[in-house]
Amino acid sequence: MSRVLQIGCGGVGTVAAHKLAQNADIFTDIMIASRTKSKCDALAKVLKDKYGVSVVTASVDADDTAALVALMKSFKPDIVVNLALPYQDLTIMDACLEAGCSYLDTANYEPKDEAHFEYSWQWAYRERFEKAGLTAILGCGFDPGVSAIYTAYAAKHHFDEIHYLDIVDCNAGNHHKAFATNFNPEINIREITQKGLYYKDGKWIETEPLEIHQPITYPNIGPRESYLMHHEELESLVINFPTIKQGRFWMTFGQQYLTYLDVIQNIGMSRIDKIEYDAPLADGSGKTARVKIVPLQFLKAVLPNPQDLGENYDGETSIGCRIRGIKDGKERTYYVYNNCSHQAAYQETGMQGVSYTTGVPAMIGAMMFCKGIWKRPGVWNVEEFDPDPFMEQLNVQGLPWHEQFDCDLEL
Ligand code: NDP
Repeated sequence: MSRVLQIGCGGVGTVAAHKLAQNADIFTDIMIASRTKSKCDALAKVLKDKYGVSVVTASVDADDTAALVALMKSFKPDIVVNLALPYQDLTIMDACLEAGCSYLDTANYEPKDEAHFEYSWQWAYRERFEKAGLTAILGCGFDPGVSAIYTAYAAKHHFDEIHYLDIVDCNAGNHHKAFATNFNPEINIREITQKGLYYKDGKWIETEPLEIHQPITYPNIGPRESYLMHHEELESLVINFPTIKQGRFWMTFGQQYLTYLDVIQNIGMSRIDKIEYDAPLADGSGKTARVKIVPLQFLKAVLPNPQDLGENYDGETSIGCRIRGIKDGKERTYYVYNNCSHQAAYQETGMQGVSYTTGVPAMIGAMMFCKGIWKRPGVWNVEEFDPDPFMEQLNVQGLPWHEQFDCDLEL
């Protein structure tokens, strides 16, 4: 018997809600709350028709801590699953503390006016969650999320020491649009246009955005140009697995995507500062009013909605960890990965594979908490918990994983 409040009803939220409803024996009471209640209501209808599960819906502004506290106090969830945007992490954590709820998210906090993400803001809540006897589980999507659980599983079962960790993320799907992002465009473009960063011998090394790249071969897909990027899970992994000498994250991009991204940046549409704009008045007079807009938010409004990509998406994603280290005095290489078909994800949930690979682990994290397996007062990154029950559920819930030993890691 567990009560779960999911905040956010976008691509990832839709998948997570399907998965919560599929596991209604554990999640006996579900509320879906988001800024636009009509989206929650439409999803609730699908869940009722498909699984016979009734969920409660609500409208909430997750930037408003008081509104969140009121909602949490009325629904009394055991855990709040934050699938809104990284901007809302801290307000939701504040509200959880005040209302006495545990917390889970899939992306670390990012201030709206600065394209910068790091865990320090959320790690600063450790003592408060511990004292309140509440659990906060950070970064429980695929990457971050499963990538860190794969690493913890490798450390537990296959290595005495992990020395080299490369997280490799390939989307070999085709949505047949000239340009679209696979999750929230604003968050996605902010992430990709940042400088690269990787860890080597105790230091963080910065690169120009997408400066380092090489082809990497992905199972069932083949070679794809892969670009070194800064990714948040590396920050906690190198602390929690201190034998790591080098930690890197790679993501594939097609040439067409990069060309569009270049243009978007060169014409100023990826800017996140406010600019002045003469907006036509709604009265039809032809007059304008001077308003302030953020170019990247305006761009998001005209780009395809990632939630609408699923129907025509073919191909698959392949995300995994390539690890080199020592076991019983001998060098070992290990590759653990999942491939996820966009069409299979769409058939099951109406969303494409990138939303699917994020929403499923979010539900499994909530399940780990509700079963008491990952219930521990404090603020934790996922690799700090036992990976085994989570890995078992990945196979059950639609993200099966595969292993290769002593293989050529290419990296
Ligand atoms: P979407 O933009 O599709 O959905 C975001 C949802 O949050 C929408 O329902 C939106 O409401 C709601 N929302 C936004 N602001 C507020 C607010 N102030 N109050 C209440 N609700 C709000 O994003 P995605 O589903 O693609 O991504 C969700 C999260 O998942 C993001 O944080 C993203 O970074 C993370 N993610 C993590 C990955 C991982 O592997 N770890 C991979 C991909 C994404 P509305 O409908 O009104 O806009």
